Amino acid sequence: MPLFLHNTLGQKKEAFVPLDPAHVRMYVCGPTVYDRAHIGNARPVVVFDVLYRLLKRLYPRVTYVRNITDVDDKINAASKQRGEPIEAITGRTARWYREDMGALGALPPDVEPRATQHVGEMIAMIAVLVQRGHAYEAEGHVLFNVPSMPEYGQLSRRSTDDMMAGARVDVAPYKKSPFDFVLWKPSTPDLPGWDSPWGRGRPGWHIECSAMARKYLGVTFDIHGGGQDLIFPHHENEIAQSRCCHDAPMARYWLHNGFLSIDSEKMSKSLGNIVTVNDLLAEDIAGEAIRLTLLGAQYHQPMDFSREALRQSQATLDHLYTTLRAAADVAPADGDDVPLDVLAALEDDLNTPLAIAHLHELATRLNKATTPAEKARAKAALLASGRLLGLLAAEPEAWFRRGAAGEMPPEAIERAIQARAAARKARNFAEADRVRAELKAAGVDLEDTPKGTIWRRTR
Ligand code: AMP
Ligand code: ZN
Repeated sequence: MPLFLHNTLGQKKEAFVPLDPAHVRMYVCGPTVYDRAHIGNARPVVVFDVLYRLLKRLYPRVTYVRNITDVDDKINAASKQRGEPIEAITGRTARWYREDMGALGALPPDVEPRATQHVGEMIAMIAVLVQRGHAYEAEGHVLFNVPSMPEYGQLSRRSTDDMMAGARVDVAPYKKSPFDFVLWKPSTPDLPGWDSPWGRGRPGWHIECSAMARKYLGVTFDIHGGGQDLIFPHHENEIAQSRCCHDAPMARYWLHNGFLSIDSEKMSKSLGNIVTVNDLLAEDIAGEAIRLTLLGAQYHQPMDFSREALRQSQATLDHLYTTLRAAADVAPADGDDVPLDVLAALEDDLNTPLAIAHLHELATRLNKATTPAEKARAKAALLASGRLLGLLAAEPEAWFRRGAAGEMPPEAIERAIQARAAARKARNFAEADRVRAELKAAGVDLEDTPKGTIWRRTR
């Protein structure tokens, strides 16, 4: 079955036909680095990681580019507010981002360009847009002139009339049309800036992606992704800049993930309900449990994230790892045996909930297998399917030694074991038994072996 993807451009599922089947190219808008990534920011990362893994399986070569926006007014504001240099903030936040997304099993993209290292390319594109009459200079700014592009609004299906109705009253006086957007803006000496034909300044956000995508993927490439909120204005403006600069379409398939809410509420600073990936990891919640939760809904649907959903994911993974632990002695059969139904689910616009349901069936198959050959094949199928989804990468024993949502952290368990050992040494068996019972109530079983006491979670 060919790959089908929901293309925002056509607003329907379309068969994916790469421009060059020997080399598929994908760009996903990355983070603006001034704060820890929250769980909503992790959704596009995990979703597009599954697509990346699938594309790598289907095509001989894939180039995946995900940028880092390290010049932005929010970064400047954070630097001023915290009294910390910009580079310190962006460098640290980019490192955190890599660590947190790595903990969710996301493969690093092939190229991770930073905006500040591509300002020359942005200036060159802006100059072409000015020269072609699609952009103009006004009061140190360079603006893209939206009325110069009759097809503007195709991605978000907005006509200029709709936009006119929604136009804000406080439009900057130097704009020819209220929809015109900034390609370049002047910087005061205290702000980051680069020399340009329009004076010292800094780029607008949209031009960053157009310039970096062009550099690493070419004028027209296959897939462009990001969260739904980016459709307008960010992606609409990327399209406008790239098309008017190159006389060619930017990307052929535009994919957008739906938004994630928390406990049925929008995540926002004012509600104080923002959960970062790092908050969850710090609670010793497994990255795979977070990942599975994020894959529990098909990517373009809205999804609600909750502790209960996390707990269920943990239970699902416990179940799958229990099966793998029971089959620890089985050597998986050779070859990359992703069963056709798992592949078909993912090829159908990344139907991850269905693919996950198939993982359960594969676990059942492994549990029921009787002959060594059957077991070897079933184990290989389960592991290969897990790999395609970025799951089941842990050693089963290691999995059961880690904590889960609301569970006793490993250090606390180790401390309790030491306290029990001390009580036994002091022949205070009542106390030793009490500690053991307390651990049991917390879902931890102890086993005394000649090498010492080992522990294992029971749920
Ligand atoms: P930002 O750093 O705000 O530009 O966001 C980075 C990525 O996260 C973008 O692709 C956004 O669309 C996406 N994103 C932000 N918030 C959410 C959310 N609540 N649910 C899903 N995706 C989100
Ligand atoms: Zn972008």
